[in-house]
Amino acid sequence: MARIYNFSPGPAILPAPVLERAREELRGWRSTGVSVMEMSHRGEDFIGIAERAEADLRALLGVPANYKVLFLAGGASAQFAAAPMNLWRGKKQASYVSTGYWSEKAIAEARLYGQVQVAASGKDSKFTTIPPRASWNVDRDAAYLHYTANETIGGVEFQDAPEADGLPLVADMSSNILSRPVDVRRFGLIYASAQKNLGLPGLAVVIVREDLLGQTLPGTPSTFDYKRQAENGSMVNTPPTYAWYVAGLVLDWLREQGGVKAIEAHNIRKAAKLYAAIDAAPFYSNPVEPAVRSRMNVPFHLADSNLEALFLAEAKEAGLVYLEGHRSVGGLRASIYNAMPEEGVEALISFMREFERKRG
Ligand code: PMP
Repeated sequence: MARIYNFSPGPAILPAPVLERAREELRGWRSTGVSVMEMSHRGEDFIGIAERAEADLRALLGVPANYKVLFLAGGASAQFAAAPMNLWRGKKQASYVSTGYWSEKAIAEARLYGQVQVAASGKDSKFTTIPPRASWNVDRDAAYLHYTANETIGGVEFQDAPEADGLPLVADMSSNILSRPVDVRRFGLIYASAQKNLGLPGLAVVIVREDLLGQTLPGTPSTFDYKRQAENGSMVNTPPTYAWYVAGLVLDWLREQGGVKAIEAHNIRKAAKLYAAIDAAPFYSNPVEPAVRSRMNVPFHLADSNLEALFLAEAKEAGLVYLEGHRSVGGLRASIYNAMPEEGVEALISFMREFERKRG
């Protein structure tokens, strides 16, 4: 079979060595003769797998000791609710920055728990820019300031954590965690779905500063309570064990790649090549302001949108799959997460040039 390059936004491409290891260990993990899928989450084998994944995540991201790391079910969407439940702490409102589809989802969910103040919104630019920090109107008495570090659909990405005016800074890093270094000390809470840069769906990683714990809203389910989860090793109930294990394999792989700084260099190269190819001719376009273009998700359009179905069909024949844009925006999108090799991006660029030559 010819090499397939998977540009899916998520669930997304996994590193080939991770799939290989999962295959090798599928029927029996190490000498146990038992698949990870069949193990008790409280047995010493799985506890070892779980602790190692946490230690690797801490080391790779530089998570300080006064932060808890949790592996929770429900993906990032559950965290849209868990963040307000855990962090509201009796405040009048929470401040949110809206940079697109996923910020809007986070805001809508937070509104179920209290008043949301939208400190800034990119809506006027159709979410093709991030409003400059100086223009934000952040309530200095808000419970926290929430932003979406990378908009998976719109393709805008914060190049650095914004200044939070002393508020706990909360970030949804679902689609760019571990793709670039972050200074965790600047955050009150980081959460991310696993199915882009950390493996399988259904799991979210939560990194939360200890002093924020223990003040949940009344009615918070115990599975959503960060303090209770932290006290119970993320096992208030049975966690998504296989996804946790695969996250561990992905973290192993990332360490072998040289860690986050090394993968960042790789990501910068891939994104620069792809944007250069899009910008090179009016046949393709990307609407996002260059300074905030995402390194992970690259939406693009054809000048003649009638050709998009043909583009997708021919790309698929060439082994380049899942390039359709999100149903809410249409067009095309290439997601180029950590696991996408540079050759995959090069194959896409060659295909784009050839398609333009034939149809342009
Ligand atoms: N936030 C962002 C930035 C996302 O890209 C996604 C999923 N694509 C989510 C949240 C929701 O994640 P989940 O479907 O795992 O709940």
